[in-house]
Amino acid sequence: MYLTACVGAALYPTHGETARDLLRNVDTALHHIKSRDRNAVQFYSPQLTASIGRWVQLEAGLRQAIENDEFTLNFQPKVDLATRCVIGAEALVRWGNEELGSVSPDEFVPVAEEAGLIGAIGNWVLQQACHHAVQWNRGGGQPIHVGVNVSAHQMRRPDIADKVNVCLEESGLDPRLLELELTESVMMDDTGKSIALLEDLRGLGITVAIDDFGTGYSSLSYLTDFPLDTLKVDRAFVMNLPDDRDAVTIARAIIGLAQNLDLHIVAEGIETDEHERFLQGLGSHTGQGYLFSRPLGAAEFNEFIAQNQTPMPVAG
Ligand code: C2E
Ligand code: CA
Ligand code: CA
Repeated sequence: MYLTACVGAALYPTHGETARDLLRNVDTALHHIKSRDRNAVQFYSPQLTASIGRWVQLEAGLRQAIENDEFTLNFQPKVDLATRCVIGAEALVRWGNEELGSVSPDEFVPVAEEAGLIGAIGNWVLQQACHHAVQWNRGGGQPIHVGVNVSAHQMRRPDIADKVNVCLEESGLDPRLLELELTESVMMDDTGKSIALLEDLRGLGITVAIDDFGTGYSSLSYLTDFPLDTLKVDRAFVMNLPDDRDAVTIARAIIGLAQNLDLHIVAEGIETDEHERFLQGLGSHTGQGYLFSRPLGAAEFNEFIAQNQTPMPVAG
């Protein structure tokens, strides 16, 4: 058994002059550290009270958000670097209401995870993404796949493969057109279990991508141990190409590794022609980023497809 400790601390008299105030502030510090770390000390500061107020407000808002129809999906095109034709899109969830305005997923996804709401939200995203992908592929032409982000919390739920299967069946989407984007933290949990789960998911016919590669607790061994299809090169390594020598070395190493392991490579965060040319030179075939398009609403993405789809080659 491994025990870890989280400690919240407040100092008399800076953080409170009465026992009640001190204990309340200790609680705030403890709550803050528990949501981030499993083995650490956090001293109280007034900013923590403000951030917990915001957290509570977001949590209350999220509890109503599905019923109130407050989520939408944006789609960011993924393009073939050689032709600039669209080959798929990443579904990115958006949330907003009158009281809070629009809230970034980087801010609300962790709140939803802590509050046990990510399962319901993730399921909604999956259903919608499958439904949209069916529409994109109605007209024939080259297939267009959809990538859906799945957090480590969602992967820990025992019914994730069933949920994916239900979405595929209900929408009628060809499973080959769905890719789940997972981060490295999923692999860290329980290796044996994670491999079995990925095998179940791939058994449905879908593909699995490793997202933000190189930013987490990377271990090269899991690239060979885990059944994966795609590696997404994080934008942190793309941003400083081609002038920064370290960035070049890392990008080259990651892409070389993926090629040798027969993984499909998607480079994220391509913002300039130089990024594009350089990554293509290194052997990346697919790209995503502001150079091609920002995330688009559903209708705008349909327009994008109309303008950027490769026609199906005529048989014979
Ligand atoms: P991510 O999966 O790495 O998604 C890519 C993020 O990079 C998106 O931010 C996108 O708008 C942004 N981006 C794309 N191209 C560029 C570029 O060229 N330059 C720059 N600077 N940024 C670019 P977004 O939409 O704010 O999403 C943030 C994160 O929220 C995502 O990171 C993902 O981890 C999470 N997320 C989004 N949708 C979902 C979802 O449906 N479920 C879960 N569990 N997480 C989600
Ligand atoms: Ca992603
Ligand atoms: Ca990413």
